[in-house]
Amino acid sequence: QKAEWKKLKNEPSVTADGKHFTIAANIGTPNDMPGVKENGAEAIGLYRTEFLYMNSSDFPTEDEQFDAYKEVIEGMNGKQTIIRTMDIGGDKHLDYWELPDEMNPFLGVRAIRLSLQNKEIFRTQLRALLRASAYGPLGIMFPMIGTLGELRKAKKVLEEEKTSLQEAGVKIGDDLQVGMMIEVPAAAVLADQFAKEVDFFSIGTNDLIQYTMAADRGNDNISYLYQPYNPSVLRLIKHTIDGAHENGIWVGMCGEAAGDNVMFPILLSMGLDEYSMSATSILRIRSLMKKINTEDIKELANEACYVSETFADNEKLVKETLSKLG
Ligand code: PEP
Ligand code: MG
Repeated sequence: QKAEWKKLKNEPSVTADGKHFTIAANIGTPNDMPGVKENGAEAIGLYRTEFLYMNSSDFPTEDEQFDAYKEVIEGMNGKQTIIRTMDIGGDKHLDYWELPDEMNPFLGVRAIRLSLQNKEIFRTQLRALLRASAYGPLGIMFPMIGTLGELRKAKKVLEEEKTSLQEAGVKIGDDLQVGMMIEVPAAAVLADQFAKEVDFFSIGTNDLIQYTMAADRGNDNISYLYQPYNPSVLRLIKHTIDGAHENGIWVGMCGEAAGDNVMFPILLSMGLDEYSMSATSILRIRSLMKKINTEDIKELANEACYVSETFADNEKLVKETLSKLG
């Protein structure tokens, strides 16, 4: 089977009926680029920049960040790179940045919340990203957005930095999109309203599941509650995709679920546009996509969201649907 997957390395990601959906890679550092190439990723759907901060003994400078972003963007040779602003806080801490102890770090000052409370650090990252945008198609993505107010504040800071760079004569790329993660249930519920203010969404199921099920994603004692195929989670995902499409923007997924064999047919049935996963999953999912005719799974999304009652119902539903495809 693996040999069969390898043949798909340079093939586009298409269904049995010839529809194209992007399969992208998640990366943590520029060192992950060889894997991106070897597995034929069509884009980078998530570049987690927090590793740049974590693998450093002090805040990375604007130039250090610019170099790391530019290396990846140039390495993609014209294919899009989505870079997420830092997702520090929660379980991710920096030795050189003392933050207050919190009762519930995953519900605390994390990701965009931390960036908006420390604007100079945020501005440095945004300037590095804007400068790097001159080297190829870039999407700048904000993590953990929960309210329109947060999104508007983040976009305002970005606009201010863009204007100041342009005034200084710095070139900004003309293929620059601004997007947000959908990983807080509040944002999924209001997806139609958020969609009017960004170019794209990327659904972060790792956190969306955690926050929907109120179950710590790293706690083994309640791992039974970590249910990607729970109809409640699926309804939020479907609602997000519909809200995006009704407002003319594209939507991807960069949580682990995008590369899951059971989840994938459900997402395809919902019309998700882009699937971003660890590079080693790409060829397996491309091979699965090739076997599925979208006509045969038209009803799958509705059944999974509105007929199924449990996680297990959906696992069974997808396995039966796939076995009928032969
Ligand atoms: C997610 O939450 O699904 C996600 C992709 O972000 P991270 O795993 O980095 O929190
Ligand atoms: Mg997340």
